[in-house]
Amino acid sequence: MDRSYHIQQGTDPREEVIIGAILTQNTAWTNVEKALTNLKNAHVLSFTGILSTKEETLCQLIQPSGFFNQKAHRLRLVANALKDNLDDFFKQDIPTARSQLLNLNGIGPETADSILLYAGDLPSFVVDAYTRRLCTKLPLPVQTDSYQDIQNYFQHELTKAFPHQQVEVYKEIHALIVECAKNYCRTKPDCENCPLQGRCQEALKLRPQRLRRDVR
Ligand code: SF4
Repeated sequence: MDRSYHIQQGTDPREEVIIGAILTQNTAWTNVEKALTNLKNAHVLSFTGILSTKEETLCQLIQPSGFFNQKAHRLRLVANALKDNLDDFFKQDIPTARSQLLNLNGIGPETADSILLYAGDLPSFVVDAYTRRLCTKLPLPVQTDSYQDIQNYFQHELTKAFPHQQVEVYKEIHALIVECAKNYCRTKPDCENCPLQGRCQEALKLRPQRLRRDVR
């Protein structure tokens, strides 16, 4: 994130992270970047900026991120709820802060955890579609689709291994999962080059087929 915008505008960079977490729902980050740039160019990349912008204009500015009517409504809701108390909000215990976010219409567990981890620097592991995908491929004891079960598994294991670096490690592992899923574990997986192939049950299933093909 380019903090110089916030230094110049006197705004809080955490608000940009929260705005980004809402805009990224159901879309690629490249589209979010375009919407964030529009908000920046209009000098409204903050909670007060969002709240002082007409609904129609806000929709136009965030249009590249898709679902702009819905997202404009969600941005206003979150900006209103957090605008005067962001420091206090992040000082609460995680379950309380998380449930306050989940009570806002349109904020699900993934968005709530992204806000807690990336804006609040609080140890709340983010489970996204990429995490779910890798969980179905790797022999992890979380062969379930439940957000909570997957989150509990990662938090338990990572906290055990890195008890004093939870926030950094949660961010790093999430980034590695995204990179692996984007670069290798796609619709047509590139198992041959995937760094996880030695541990992946899916790759093990594919291996005999490849051997059969190679000896023909
Ligand atoms: S080895 Fe293949 S199936 Fe397994 S995680 Fe990597 S790309 Fe996905």
